Amino acid sequence: MDRMLGVYIHIPFCASKCSYCDFYSLAHKEDLMNKYQKALLRHIEESAPQMAPYYIDTIYFGGGTPSFYGAKRLCELFDALKNNARVLKSAEVTVEMNPDSITKEDLRLLHAAGVNRVSLGVQSANDDILRFIGRRHNWRQVTEAVRLIRAESFDNLNVDLIYGLPTQSRSDWADTLSKALALMPEHFSCYGLKIEEGTAICKYLDSPVLPTDDDQADMYLYMTDVMERYGYPQYEISNFSRPGRESKHNLKYWQLDEYMGFGPGAHSYMGGVRYSYVRDLEKYIGGVLGVGDIVDEYEKIDKPESAAEYIMLGMRTTHGISKDEYFSIYRSGFDKIEYLLGEYEKKGWAKRAGERWRFTSSGFLLSNILIGTLLEAQSQAKMNANPWISERLDRREPLLTMPENEVIFN
Ligand code: SF4
Repeated sequence: MDRMLGVYIHIPFCASKCSYCDFYSLAHKEDLMNKYQKALLRHIEESAPQMAPYYIDTIYFGGGTPSFYGAKRLCELFDALKNNARVLKSAEVTVEMNPDSITKEDLRLLHAAGVNRVSLGVQSANDDILRFIGRRHNWRQVTEAVRLIRAESFDNLNVDLIYGLPTQSRSDWADTLSKALALMPEHFSCYGLKIEEGTAICKYLDSPVLPTDDDQADMYLYMTDVMERYGYPQYEISNFSRPGRESKHNLKYWQLDEYMGFGPGAHSYMGGVRYSYVRDLEKYIGGVLGVGDIVDEYEKIDKPESAAEYIMLGMRTTHGISKDEYFSIYRSGFDKIEYLLGEYEKKGWAKRAGERWRFTSSGFLLSNILIGTLLEAQSQAKMNANPWISERLDRREPLLTMPENEVIFN
């Protein structure tokens, strides 16, 4: 059967570092862009044999700031993929962009090459907050960027927002949401601010500048309600879209589908193995262009772990999980898990639609704790698991099939 693969290309360059950012991204390293490009092109070429059994149906240029890296380089990478793998003409191809590094010329080049989705880092509609967190753009630049994106015929736009930002009140968040909705994108990703160790914003931890946990929870519940009312049903804890405009690439992460990453810090999941590359630009370049190991973590995902991931990732989405699906794939007891889900339902945290279980908005808010408890229940159930679980799992068929009459780039 034909297998599908998502490709992620990490662009670790930014014009400056935002105060909350924990992604692997570097400011003021433009002198390494050309060398990095060479390394990526070599890496893609050398990976042709691993990509050969697959059709590529999603490509995601993430960062960092791909729009700061420039369309010419991105198109060259896209060409390298087309030349070294079977990229479907219908593939969803996303480029992350920031409002301060978008030009009409770059948008035109990317659209002509086949890029069909833009993910725009907006974060807030409040210029003071944007300045506070170190963003380089203001709201006027956001509206101008959206105008340019639409003028160049992109009809699939994601807007990234963050709630729980320093000095942000509930009414300020409501204002950001209403201004962002007026942009009429096809998709929203809205994340709660998480303060990570080592980021510049850390100094505000426990300070009154930050909204309380209760405020953040209210912002989350308000957002899920507003999104639903304006025609963006929630399909994952932090993601909302017009029907049919869910991110195909991100769905792969939550549906245990295969994907291959390129670049420092990029993760891959192929053939039952999860691995990642070093979070170090120079080591990555040196390893690809010279000799040296670039693999950082490598883990074979065994059957029980895969069953745990089914619950962990499935419950992040509104598609949820089901007893029949779990049993047909893992041949393992679901009763303890279902009992707990029933208890969650009584509290208003989970709901059942037909055979499937999913969290409600208040359940998503508590999802870390609730999923942790489900996994404990699962590990008890595993003790009673049928011993031929492994044999059954080895025969697991891929979930995606090649669409009929599909065309590929070449
Ligand atoms: S633009 Fe994005 S990746 Fe770059 S520093 Fe800011 S948050 Fe991080």
